[in-house]
Amino acid sequence: MTDLHRLSVRELAEGLGQAQFSSRELTQHYLNRIDKIDAQVKSYVTVTHEQALAQADAADALRQAGNAGFLTGVPLAHKDIFCTKGIKTTAGSKMLDNFISPYDATVVAKGNAAGLVTLGKLNMDEFAMGSTSESSYFDATCNPWALDRVPGGSSGGSAAAVAADLAPFATGTDTGGSIRQPASFCGLTGLKPTYGRVSRFGMIAYASSLDQGGPMARSAEDCAYLMNVMAGHDAKDSTSVKKDVDDYVANLNATALKGLRIGIPKQYFNVAGLDAEVKARVEESLKKLEEMGAILVEIDLSMTESYVPTYYLIAPAEASSNLSRYDGVRYGYRCENPVDLMDLYKRSRSEGFGAEVQRRILIGTYALSAGYYDAYYVKAQKVRRLIQQDFLKAFENVDVIAAPSAPTTAYKIGADLTPVEMYLGDIYTLAVNLAGLPAINAPVGLDSNNLPVGLQLIGNYWSESQLLSIVHQYQQDTTFHTQRAAIAEENA
Ligand code: GLN
Repeated sequence: MTDLHRLSVRELAEGLGQAQFSSRELTQHYLNRIDKIDAQVKSYVTVTHEQALAQADAADALRQAGNAGFLTGVPLAHKDIFCTKGIKTTAGSKMLDNFISPYDATVVAKGNAAGLVTLGKLNMDEFAMGSTSESSYFDATCNPWALDRVPGGSSGGSAAAVAADLAPFATGTDTGGSIRQPASFCGLTGLKPTYGRVSRFGMIAYASSLDQGGPMARSAEDCAYLMNVMAGHDAKDSTSVKKDVDDYVANLNATALKGLRIGIPKQYFNVAGLDAEVKARVEESLKKLEEMGAILVEIDLSMTESYVPTYYLIAPAEASSNLSRYDGVRYGYRCENPVDLMDLYKRSRSEGFGAEVQRRILIGTYALSAGYYDAYYVKAQKVRRLIQQDFLKAFENVDVIAAPSAPTTAYKIGADLTPVEMYLGDIYTLAVNLAGLPAINAPVGLDSNNLPVGLQLIGNYWSESQLLSIVHQYQQDTTFHTQRAAIAEENA
């Protein structure tokens, strides 16, 4: 078998179940592919060769004993923001370059309990701050569709690994778009769940009221399998919600497209900077959904202009607080030869954090300082509430809301955007996190540079099943999600 990396998650699980191949063979196949190709893509920070094969052997033993679950022995890879016991977890930062967590994140533990085999840890923007994966302390990850382009971020390693067939699926996190935007740039399906659906325990914190983990894969079906593993209440995360979990796989055909009301926010399609080809592909996908029975309804999301400034106050404010724990004392990077405690703090943080992280700590600290708290932080919280109300009003009239996931396709590596230019590229994804809503990216075709374009569908709270089902049915009728990145084609 040479084409194991072409099989979907369901096909992999069925193949293992029918003993067409073992988990060891499958895992070794993926490890070989990573060893061969990832020097070009640079999606992995750590490849866990030995642990992966040991997990694969354990999975094979479970199967032989008749104790396997459906996914037992299927490999995956984790964004390097999820703590893994005994395996380095860096969050893309020099600060944590040597950090080995003494415990597993709940998402990782759930994956292990389901018998999934961890291939390694995937590159990302430092502490998940960024949209290109270039802020990583490690090498910039390349987009498998064009190696001189970024894969998006912050879950850029996750997106690139799956798009290059270096993992069948991967975990990501999304604080302001970090699952949906890299999924869009790399031609994948990626789901950002409702805030509270997936445990944040052991997920290194960026902005705690916005952070949420979710699946990234080649199709909605593959995402549904991973969502079944990841989702659920966790007593170790106080914001995790006690609410029954759907069977996302069983529900893949449950939402009727006939009569489904899709809201088209008029503000979203007039954003300066929306690329004409992106707009065209997204509109074509909406036409297709209309042919499949959906009804397109123009809606008003009047707060659109507030998304970027509101997010870029709240997220850095929370980040400045979360990142204060990295002080050079307890764990993480410590500077050499500090002369006193203040010097230890200052130099450990100045040397351990990269430029973008430092910028956000400064902005966040400023916004939270006594003299400016009301003018900035409190005001941003009020605007956040208005943004949420804008969505809730819209959902009185529509089932889901459609948007591009990003205004452009993947940028060139080293494009050297100013911070504000970079932040404006997040216009379509930020509000979903501010409101705590779920949203999904689906690939809907290529631009004239052969780069993928993504459609985003935003749902009401707890509508993950509905979003996966809509995209699944769209994918049954179209082939965009089966188009392969250049490097995957070359190494078919
Ligand atoms: N690009 C956004 C930021 O830089 C979102 C990142 C994320 O979702 N983690 O904050």
